[in-house]
Amino acid sequence: MSIKVVDVSKQYGEQIAVNGLDFEINKGEIVGFLGPNGAGKSTLMKMLTGYIKPTKGALFINDIPVIYNQKKTNKHIGYLPEHNPLYKDMFVKEYLRFVAQIHEVDKNEIDKVISRTGLTAEASKKIHQLSKGYQQRVGLAAALIHNPDVLILDEPTTGLDPNQILEIRALIKEIGKEKTVLFSTHIMQEVEAVCDRVIIINKGNLRVDEKLSTLKAGQQQIIQVTFDFKIEEQFVKQISNLVSWVNYHDNEWELTFDTQKDQRAAIFDFAQTQGLKILQMNTKNKTLETLFKEVTA
Ligand code: ADP
Ligand code: MG
Repeated sequence: MSIKVVDVSKQYGEQIAVNGLDFEINKGEIVGFLGPNGAGKSTLMKMLTGYIKPTKGALFINDIPVIYNQKKTNKHIGYLPEHNPLYKDMFVKEYLRFVAQIHEVDKNEIDKVISRTGLTAEASKKIHQLSKGYQQRVGLAAALIHNPDVLILDEPTTGLDPNQILEIRALIKEIGKEKTVLFSTHIMQEVEAVCDRVIIINKGNLRVDEKLSTLKAGQQQIIQVTFDFKIEEQFVKQISNLVSWVNYHDNEWELTFDTQKDQRAAIFDFAQTQGLKILQMNTKNKTLETLFKEVTA
């Protein structure tokens, strides 16, 4: 098991930031760690990396117990903390050389990681001269330099522009081919684009822990359709597999089906038998976003 969290809680004074979290992450999984601001994501990540001590419970990286303030598990972990703290007056290469020394890794690894994170053209610049997206790459390079097999990335795309977000996501996905990745975000689409699995927490509590494929399979199919004429509910009700229906305007319907099988052809056939024409038809799947709202409301 790459990451194991056993009944972990963290209390700050009266406040319970993390409340009895339990989960395991297998080698090679890319897991999106979701939750609204203040849910406890960073707190859990700081406990996983040994920066803060849990009030209760135990954490393991590659089956080795994480001990507060000890370095034993750190060689297995690449950590990109929230807000990506960097020494911005340093040159990119100089900074990565410094990080390499801390991890006692060979100098040759520096050029490798620079090329891997797409920093070759920027390597001789000072970090503060780089765009935010490229600074994020420097943070990722520093997290990767000692070739850890577990990556813990705290909101790696927050504050980036849309293009930079796509670049960093692609990089995470690439890195995730050979590493275990736990990354926090509050962007649902990000999880859908990058992850195999999603863990959602709210107010320190575990709310969802599912494979993305399972979540998708369990979703209902929603189709919005506009016919060319008004049609009575009694006829619409006859469409098979329909579980609910909403009539927005005379000709406009939202139909919900309890099957994953594409129902658009069935709606087409139905329209034909009723002598109607379809002016517009869209599928609108229940998104992860809806689920997130439900469990964090
Ligand atoms: P997230 O990363 O999901 O936004 P955090 O883990 O940063 O959430 O915070 C969880 C809760 O714990 C928040 O309510 C936050 O205010 C509180 N918290 C975090 N760090 C501290 C601290 N050092 N002292 C007191 N409260 C803290
Ligand atoms: Mg945070």
